[in-house]
Parts: sequence; C-alpha cells; structure tokens
Amino acid sequence: MSERVNDQDLSPESKAFKYGLDVIDKTEPLIADYIRGELENQRTQLKLIASENYASPAVLLAMGNWFSDKYAEGTPGHRFYAGCEFVDKVEVLASEHAKELFDAEYAYVQPHSGIDANLVAFWALLAYRVEAPFLQDKEVRHVNDLNDGDWATLRKAFGNQRMIGMSLDAGGHLTHGFRPNISGKLFDQKSYGVDPDTECLDYANIKLLAEEFRPMIIVAGYSAYPRKVNFAKMREIADSIDALLMVDMAHFSGLVAGKVFTGDFDPIPHAHIVTSTTHKSLRGPRGGIVLSNEKGLNEHIDKGCPMVLGGPLANIMAAKAVAFAEAKTASFQAYAQQVVDNALALAEGIEKRGGRLVTGGTENHLVLVDVRSFGLTGRQAESALEESGVIVNRNSIPFDPNGAWYTSGIRLGTPALTSLGMDCDDMGEVADIICSTLSSTEPSQTKTGEISKAKFTLDQSFIAQSNGRCNKLLSMNQLYPNVNIEGSI
Ligand code: PLP
Repeated sequence: MSERVNDQDLSPESKAFKYGLDVIDKTEPLIADYIRGELENQRTQLKLIASENYASPAVLLAMGNWFSDKYAEGTPGHRFYAGCEFVDKVEVLASEHAKELFDAEYAYVQPHSGIDANLVAFWALLAYRVEAPFLQDKEVRHVNDLNDGDWATLRKAFGNQRMIGMSLDAGGHLTHGFRPNISGKLFDQKSYGVDPDTECLDYANIKLLAEEFRPMIIVAGYSAYPRKVNFAKMREIADSIDALLMVDMAHFSGLVAGKVFTGDFDPIPHAHIVTSTTHKSLRGPRGGIVLSNEKGLNEHIDKGCPMVLGGPLANIMAAKAVAFAEAKTASFQAYAQQVVDNALALAEGIEKRGGRLVTGGTENHLVLVDVRSFGLTGRQAESALEESGVIVNRNSIPFDPNGAWYTSGIRLGTPALTSLGMDCDDMGEVADIICSTLSSTEPSQTKTGEISKAKFTLDQSFIAQSNGRCNKLLSMNQLYPNVNIEGSI
C-alpha cells in the first residue's frame, strides 16, 4: 500500500523523481512502474558488484533533460552543427573539472562508455604513432590526400601493430586486446599474467614479454585484480622498448580521484594515455573519459567523434560535470578511503571464516574469493548468494580450472555499499552473511552421479534468515534516504 504524503513535506529530490514519474505515467505507465521496481530492487539487495555504484540524485537528474535532443559532433567551438552554445559550455566545464580532478593536461569527456573510451585511445595512439608520421613522410596533411596505393599501405600498417595487456584470468578486460572484442581483431596481442605463487603482477616477467614481443602499446589496468599496479614501473618498461603506456583505470578511477592512489600508483603522471568509465568507483553517470599529458596526442583524441563515436551525449556530459564536481570534494576523498578500508575489512572477515583470497588480500576496492575453499564453483556461489540477498558476480581466478563460464571465484566490490554509508563493522556482518551462505550451500549431483558445477541446495529457512540480515543492514544504511516516491501525487 502506498502512503499519501503531502507535497509540502516532500524533499526536492522526492518531488523531482515523483513528479517525473507522474509525467511518464501519463504516456507509458509500464515504464514508470519498471523505474519504481528498479529502485525497490536496488533498495532491497546487498550490492557487491565491484563495477557498480549509486550515482547521486544530482547526477541522475542532470541526465534526464533536453540536452539529450541536441546533436553536437565535433569539439567545443568546432562543431558540425549549429546551436551548440550550451553544449559547448557543458563539455568545457566537464573537461575542466576532469583536468583539475585528475591533474591532467587534457580531458576528453565524450566517450559513451569504457569500451568507447578504449577505442578512442587505441585509435588516437595509432594516429599518433602510425598515421601522423606516415602523412608527414608523404608530405600530405590529411588521409584524404593520400593516393590509393599509399592509403592501402597505411591501412595495412594499422593492422600490423602489437599490444600487450593483462590476461583475462589474471583480471584483465576483454577490451585489452582479446579476440571477442574489436581490440583483439585490430592488434596482434599477447597477454601477461600473474606470478603463480603470489598471484600478483611480476614486473620482471612483463618486461621480458615486452622485450621479446616489442608491442607498440602496453595496456595496464584491470577489472578483477585486487592489488595496486605500479604505473611508474610500467612506464619504465614501456620506455625501455619505446612503447606507449595506456592505462585503463575504469575500475579504480574513484580511488585516483579520491587521492587514495597517489605517486607510483596514480596512472596520470606515468601513462601516455589514460581511460576510464565514469560510473564505477567514480560514482558518475554511465560513460567514459580519456585523459592525457602527452603533447601532440590530444589532437588525435579530439577526433574520437566521429572516428569511432557517435555524436556526444550532452546530457551525460552534464552529469559527468556534476559527478566530477562531487568527486573534487573532501567528502568524496573520505568516501574513497572508506571504500578501500571496507574492502580490507571484508577481505579479513572472509579469510577469518575460511575463504581463500586470491593474492592473499586486497589493496583496492575489490576482493576476489576462491570459492573452491567452500567446495563450490563461482556459478554456484553467485546463485546461492543471490538467493541469500547478496548480489555478486562470478569471476575467473588465475589459472582457473573451472574456465570462464563456471569459474572458481567470486568478485566482491565495496563502492556501492560504501555509498550507502556502510563501514568496517558492517563489512564484518557482510562477510558473515557471505561465508555462512557459502558454507551452507551443497553442490548437487548430476543425473550421472557427478558433482554439478551449477546446481546446488540451500535450505529455505537459511535463505529467509539471510535475507532478513541483509534487509536489516539495508534499513540502517538506506539508498537515497531523502527520495520518497511512494503514493500518487
Ligand atoms: N575497462 C574495464 C577495465 C572494465 O572493467 C570495463 C567494464 O566492465 C570496461 C572497460 C568497459 O566499460 P563499459 O561497460 O562502460 O563499456
């Protein structure tokens, strides 16, 4: 039953969302219902997906407006469309905020996602290292000025380049040169893994691979590696073979913005080019950015649209500007530190209760648990936890015997729960809910009597009790406590 609340008692955020839903209700009530349902789901699940977060109402509201209607291919002041006065202001502001936040000379805020940011970066590096010297050699200014033979030679040269990136089972990302992604079709790629004993990066081995394979690009960054990466060392390796260092900080950009990762662990001063999503630990809208301090590279990054991107989404750039403004505050820095403290508390809590941690711990926002220590596959652990009220994703671990589908690990991240205000004590309770669920989960047998990698049994009363514990934590740490969309207006 929805409760009636007087308009004058509503917070501005409640009014904004409630009235907005009322407008949608009049045209497609199902969508308004689905939006309400999503909020309800998000409010009742313990979200430990390492790549997700909760953007603020200000960020969310900046996305839903008439900037969505405007075409603005090009860059501020150099558009292929008229009427871009306010889009220009938005893009300049978002870019200025990003430059200040990350202490970067150059920031491109148009990419629509992390994949897009990486594509822009790859093509900017190719233009910088392959295309520009070729045009200079041919004494022309533009690819359109090349004759057909030279154009064919240049196209071949694009396809002849090499890169190295972190292997998928060590925590790398598909966009770092793997065949299912366009980066793997474009580049000849080899990957570096982790040391089999420590499960941590082995820089001497990365250097050996780089010297042997001689890539044009070295990609650093990850989506499931629970340790810091030394970017000063990665740059040294890149310089030693005249390669370009690209860092994809999609996962940990919030920790860079929040000044938790500094010095050798801050990629901006060390990499030629840095990409990120804006929606993970950075807590902004879904989107991407490209940053650089390399002279001469910015003009190539600027060509991201229309080279590989569709027209910029001005509403999303507006939301990025709001998120960057938030990330510049002292309270965001405190948040970023708490994300890392919470991950450490969660890791300790899980280890204490018998879970094996990949690399033996964490230094960032994520914890990778080897669920074979509970006799389960990642697939079973993910599903059992979902029934218990905890949302995680299964993940490969280094040298995973269960492959990429069933996996042997689960990846846990603290950015979202920390946004709700949870602290290290709460992480003890979360660790207990997770470990008691995994300990109570029994793999089922297949029809042929083998142990299933997917099916399992978990007691119904245990599930009810566990969901109750999750709800208690969530009621004490509410999502959007000042947003009330109950009842009709
Ligand atoms: N790079 C890394 C390291 C990621 O973890 C991800 C997302 O999971 C991406 C890129 C792609 O981001 P998006 O989903 O926004 O395209």
